[in-house]
Amino acid sequence: MPSQPLIALIATRQTHLKRAPTYEIPKAYLDAILTAGGLPILLPTSLPITTLPELVNRFDGFVLSGGGDVDPALYGGHLNATVHSIDPERDAFERALIPLVLQADKPLLAICRGVQILNVALGGSLYEDIPSALPAALRHDWYPDIPRDYLAHTVEIEQGSRLAEILGTRKLRTNSLHHQAIRQPAPALEVVAYAEDGVIEAVELPRKRFAIGVQWHPECLPEEPAMQKLFLEFVNAAHN
Ligand code: MN
Repeated sequence: MPSQPLIALIATRQTHLKRAPTYEIPKAYLDAILTAGGLPILLPTSLPITTLPELVNRFDGFVLSGGGDVDPALYGGHLNATVHSIDPERDAFERALIPLVLQADKPLLAICRGVQILNVALGGSLYEDIPSALPAALRHDWYPDIPRDYLAHTVEIEQGSRLAEILGTRKLRTNSLHHQAIRQPAPALEVVAYAEDGVIEAVELPRKRFAIGVQWHPECLPEEPAMQKLFLEFVNAAHN
């Protein structure tokens, strides 16, 4: 039996609890990686930045998971009342990690906040809040009191993209648990999926072994074959 690739998942720092800061991740991410044949390991963003080159060497793949908003100051944006849960420690950690992962060409899967920080780390910008910036847009913030697997809108995938090949379709319904989205895509990123209203829903770096970011939460849709396939291809790419 081949060894299981070690997949690092960025954990979310919780500071609002009435105890010491805690690093956590929804179990759905762990299940998705395990089901796909990988071994998921949490990466707390409190680790020194200086350890990142060694961590990138040791892990076979990286998941940029969901979480709070990226600090708008990092992309020339503006703070407003809707921007929440900024974590400077996490922003700094992921901005340092992303170029190293891409340089090493280790497989990278970015989910929700993950696709946003990926874009910012590579020089792109975000809409601080979709409803304020794009009043005609569909509703994308189907949270917190809605099931996380609620299929909120359709996503159209670009023909010829790696994502279309993996998902095996050019149109699918996805969940949608975000109030921000990519505004200006980073030069290195290819936009490969849009919602019906034009909101960017996925990007990829075509010349990398596996570098894909999705704005939806595939880990919350474990019954969808297309989402299983996304995790499977990611973990397969992490087999050296
Ligand atoms: Mn959406």
